[in-house]
Amino acid sequence: MKKILVIGGGFFGLYLAEFFSTQGHNVRLVERESSFMSRASFNNQARVHNGYHYPRSILTALRSRISFPRFIEEFDECISSDFEKYYLIGKPLGKISARQFLKFCERIGAICDPAPDRLRKLVNPNFIEACFSVTEFAFDAIKLRDKMIARLGKTSADLCLGVSAQSIRGHQSGLIVTLRNETTGGQEESYFDHAFNCTYSKINEINAQSSLNLVNLKHEMTEVCLVDVPDELKNTGITVMCGPFFSVMPFPSTALHSFSHVRYTPHYEWHDRPGEQFDDAEKIGISERRHSAWLYMQKDATRYLPLLAECRYERSLWETKTVLPRSETDDSRPILFLENHGLPGFHCIMGGKIDNVYDVIQAIADRNLIPLTGRTRH
Ligand SMILES: Cc1cc2nc3c(=O)[nH]c(=O)nc-3n(C[C@H](O)[C@H](O)[C@H](O)COP(=O)(O)OP(=O)(O)OC[C@H]3O[C@@H](n4cnc5c(N)ncnc54)[C@H](O)[C@@H]3O)c2cc1C
Repeated sequence: MKKILVIGGGFFGLYLAEFFSTQGHNVRLVERESSFMSRASFNNQARVHNGYHYPRSILTALRSRISFPRFIEEFDECISSDFEKYYLIGKPLGKISARQFLKFCERIGAICDPAPDRLRKLVNPNFIEACFSVTEFAFDAIKLRDKMIARLGKTSADLCLGVSAQSIRGHQSGLIVTLRNETTGGQEESYFDHAFNCTYSKINEINAQSSLNLVNLKHEMTEVCLVDVPDELKNTGITVMCGPFFSVMPFPSTALHSFSHVRYTPHYEWHDRPGEQFDDAEKIGISERRHSAWLYMQKDATRYLPLLAECRYERSLWETKTVLPRSETDDSRPILFLENHGLPGFHCIMGGKIDNVYDVIQAIADRNLIPLTGRTRH
């Protein structure tokens, strides 16, 4: 039995903690915030990817096609599937034509039918080349969180809220981790055989505080708007592909729709680079937060779908979005999996999208990092 620390109580940390615990290990999970899944795992667009979003990365599209049925089966009651989902092909700035999109869907084996008249009548044909009806769902992050907590409640994993990992150093065959109680400020040191850094946008904060090399990551301060859509769009999700367009889809943990725009959702960006100092630009966002780009998003999107002028803005989700630098060119979403990063037993993991959790579990098994019994929940 190994003593395992999971750092970060987002979806990935929770899933991993349950996985290791089910495998018979002694697991502790620490989450800095006062609730689980309150960062990127809540502040996102809640799309359960089924491949359509990735015409520029066939590998990510195909991986999504494999994970999609598994994810919706495992998290059945957390998935909203009772809405119509359309992918529209934008022009003239689009990077893909309708013909190319259809061919791409055929290649990945994803259903793509002509959209009904009801939908086509809503779009401006000067800016939309074609409208397709597809199969894509959304997840309810609150239900997902509650389900994971209930599952973890059946294990012996020790879940600690309001506790952050500060730094890590090697000790004999394992690690000494300094943990901080965020309420009292008190610190303690604990021994672990392995520590999994599942902190997404903060992976390099721990690395820097532990004098370890930074991982090459790109960050964006993002704004996803939550809006009340007009009745005609209530049970509808629309994504305009593939360029400086937008997406509006149900956000199941509220009765609202999420609204994101390729041009206006990112407010600013920064990079962590190996060999460089860590400088967390997320803090700039604290003052930036007051300047919503909603009106720009809406104004642009209304050119494609005039009805969007009737959306009522409610509030925005602000979050740091972290991707691997290579994703900038093809928008791919591979996982980051760095085993023994600077220290034996210290591993950095980033999922990229929610359903990639299966790729992470597979990577752990393939690398033979931790003794696994082969036991699974299902
Ligand atoms: C704007 C946006 C839109 C997105 N849209 C989608 C989408 O539609 N579909 C999809 O599948 N994916 C989407 N994603 C990606 C998805 O949100 C992430 O892949 C996923 O949530 C990452 O989960 P996580 O557990 O790794 O990170 P998080 O949920 O961020 O969890 C990391 C946790 O670590 C904690 N932490 C940080 N530092 C420490 C520390 N030192 N000690 C203890 N705890 C710490 C944080 O408080 C946080 O709770 C989107 C992301 C963004 C930002």
